[in-house]
Amino acid sequence: VTYAITELTKHLSILNPLSNQLINRPKEDKDLIDRVGIESTIGNTPLIVIKSLSEATNCTILAKCEFLNGAGNSPKDRVAQSIISKAEAADLLTPYSDDTIYEGTVGSTGISLATLCRARGYKAHICMPSDQAMEKSDLLLKLGAVVERVTPAPIVDQQHFVNRARNLAAAHMMDLEKPGRGVFADQFETEANWRAHFEGTGPEIYEQAHERVDAFVAGAGTGGTLSGVSMYLRQKLPDVQIVLADPQGSGLYNKVKHGVMFHGLEREGTRRRQQVDTVVEGIGLTRATRNFMVGEGLIDDAVKVSDNEARRMARWLCEKDGIFVGSSSSVNCMAAVRTALRLGPGHRVVTVLCDSGMRHLSKFWKQVGDIGGESNMMFEQLLNG
Ligand code: PMP
Repeated sequence: VTYAITELTKHLSILNPLSNQLINRPKEDKDLIDRVGIESTIGNTPLIVIKSLSEATNCTILAKCEFLNGAGNSPKDRVAQSIISKAEAADLLTPYSDDTIYEGTVGSTGISLATLCRARGYKAHICMPSDQAMEKSDLLLKLGAVVERVTPAPIVDQQHFVNRARNLAAAHMMDLEKPGRGVFADQFETEANWRAHFEGTGPEIYEQAHERVDAFVAGAGTGGTLSGVSMYLRQKLPDVQIVLADPQGSGLYNKVKHGVMFHGLEREGTRRRQQVDTVVEGIGLTRATRNFMVGEGLIDDAVKVSDNEARRMARWLCEKDGIFVGSSSSVNCMAAVRTALRLGPGHRVVTVLCDSGMRHLSKFWKQVGDIGGESNMMFEQLLNG
């Protein structure tokens, strides 16, 4: 038996050097095994009260601090973990092999995947639109991912960043010379995405809000967060209102309000300079993805947020509360305020802070500008400019 165990251990150690390091540890160290590594910092993020907005609206505005997921610092840590774990369980990926994960992303999912690829022994190949802030592609390069910045294109174009990643994964599988396997993460369509929020983010919000949420407000980049959280909350709280926060240039507001999708296809012959026509990164779509559609029927209302409003909210949150966040978080908070004002005093509105302003210094925050020493914006100005 001892011989068999020794042989098995050797075999395991070839597959997974991490298990080798941990196998010969004393018992008290082995008890710590589920806290090993960066992945143990994913999930259980705080739900905070945004004081200034709660006071101004006479509601309780709560924000789930998803930028505090400790691997890639966004809600996409949960999604990346879910996608990789499911692929491993289906034997599509093997840790510490030559397997490569391909993904089309505006950045956050790529950063979470690239981080977990390092932690689990994979290669990452990321395709992202070239209009996104350089901080994100710079970070991806530091994490050792192959990064392609792709010219913005409509989804029907094979050069669209998502199609490019899917095609590269398929080509990898066909190429017998290329070591390992190629797997397309497919965040826009895979069930692993909304499920990560249905099983993690949603239950956490429900418990942290003491089982009372009047409205949940979030934007949709793939739709995974909105759908997964909404599905969970609606199961527990049949009266909870679900509100889409949509930036300018996105087609989802019209789809929810009027049942008509704006596809964002440019005029014949013009070249697209932005994937979605907004300074906001991470949310807004010009097509309905599976992760959006799976929860679409639950949406009660949509709030359109202009780039100006997003910039004002980013400034307000930093100025009044010391909350320094990116553009999608600002859109979420503006839509949460509008929802609170519509519902009236005493309601409890929950939204999401997706990523830090650090990831948006060169683009969005350059437009917002420096806050300066004064803290003088009035709530009226926040709402009306
Ligand atoms: N905020 C940021 C910064 C993002 O990158 C994303 C995902 N693209 C989202 C919000 C939206 O998340 P979801 O894909 O779950 O709709």
